[in-house]
Amino acid sequence: MSSIDYEIDLLSKLVEVDTVSATKEGYDLCAFMVAEEAKKASLKVEILDGEKAARDGVSRPNVIVTLDSGSDTTLLLESHFDVVPPGEGWKYPPFKLTIENGKAYGRGAADNKSGIAAALGAMRQLADNEDLDINIKLLASVDEEIGGTYGINYVVSDCGVSGDAALVLDSGPERLFLGASGIIWGKILVQGKQGHAGYPFKAKNAIEGALQLISEFKSYRHAVEKKSSILRAPPDSPRDRVWGRFNITMIKAGEAENIIPGTCEVRFDRRLLPEEPIAKAERELITFFDSATKRSRYRARLEITNKFSGYLTSPDLVFVRTVSRMIKKTLGTSLPMAGELGGNDGNFFAKHNIPVVCFGPIRTGTRYHGKDEFVHLEDLRNVRDFIVNLGKVGRDEVKS
Ligand SMILES: [Zn+2]
Repeated sequence: MSSIDYEIDLLSKLVEVDTVSATKEGYDLCAFMVAEEAKKASLKVEILDGEKAARDGVSRPNVIVTLDSGSDTTLLLESHFDVVPPGEGWKYPPFKLTIENGKAYGRGAADNKSGIAAALGAMRQLADNEDLDINIKLLASVDEEIGGTYGINYVVSDCGVSGDAALVLDSGPERLFLGASGIIWGKILVQGKQGHAGYPFKAKNAIEGALQLISEFKSYRHAVEKKSSILRAPPDSPRDRVWGRFNITMIKAGEAENIIPGTCEVRFDRRLLPEEPIAKAERELITFFDSATKRSRYRARLEITNKFSGYLTSPDLVFVRTVSRMIKKTLGTSLPMAGELGGNDGNFFAKHNIPVVCFGPIRTGTRYHGKDEFVHLEDLRNVRDFIVNLGKVGRDEVKS
């Protein structure tokens, strides 16, 4: 087993910088450190600042590190260095790396500064290799935790950074993830008639209408939950395959105890299968809503407030088979292929037809986004070694 002193040392430097996405205070310093580290390893560095699209004077330096071997084939690696706020009650200092019993604690230690440490560690080793057949480009991005518009989306969509395949390191090492769920968010506005609570016969309570409608939506929810993906669910799931999900997530109505509310707003979240076409899912939802409101004596309106497609990378692609083989070579065992229940940055690559898979050091139970986040040093090593193995494959093993 080779040493991971370099990766731990780099991770420790990165964790010490407060890069919370909301304030972005440490972005420049952290980007500078990643860039300096890359230059020391004779790698090419470019900064793509999302501020150029945001135009608000707040810098959002995405660091692009390239190992150029003169190939016509490029593998993209993606990891982000922004973090969510630490919150209260940590046993360990959140912005200092503490090593204890094979674990490294700190905010971002797993999500996702570990990905940058593993990738740079691997690229540094590969830089000495003269027989590489592919180029490797690390996209160390910002703003991932707040949607990635001026992070990886800016890099891929606005700046046109592209490659033949992408590996997202913002993920766990228990599965090879080939997809993520799509999302439909929406708002239902139920119309009643506002009135004095002492004279209910003169009013029409919109909360009553909303409750009826919510109860109608139980059958929609059951139908959605019967949908099953070809991809397996992540570890700790109650189901074997990724499934459809629907939840009422917000209800808003009422002004005071003595006023019968005239409107009630209900919001929902629908999660699609990775392979589910979003237009079809939207039609199903609208059809159900129309028939449910017809059965009710209330008027109601549906508005889709946001939607994103999921994505599914075909398990038959050469690249997916190569990644699978390199995982087996590194870990000594094959991993099941699975889909994520949430969304992830893989979307931005899939949107541009770049085949994308996710495998990284964020293991289940590492408390990412929670207090006392940590990464297993073993996972840091494995991901680094896996990238080294993947970097040595031939161009025909990456290109589809
Ligand atoms: Zn992340």
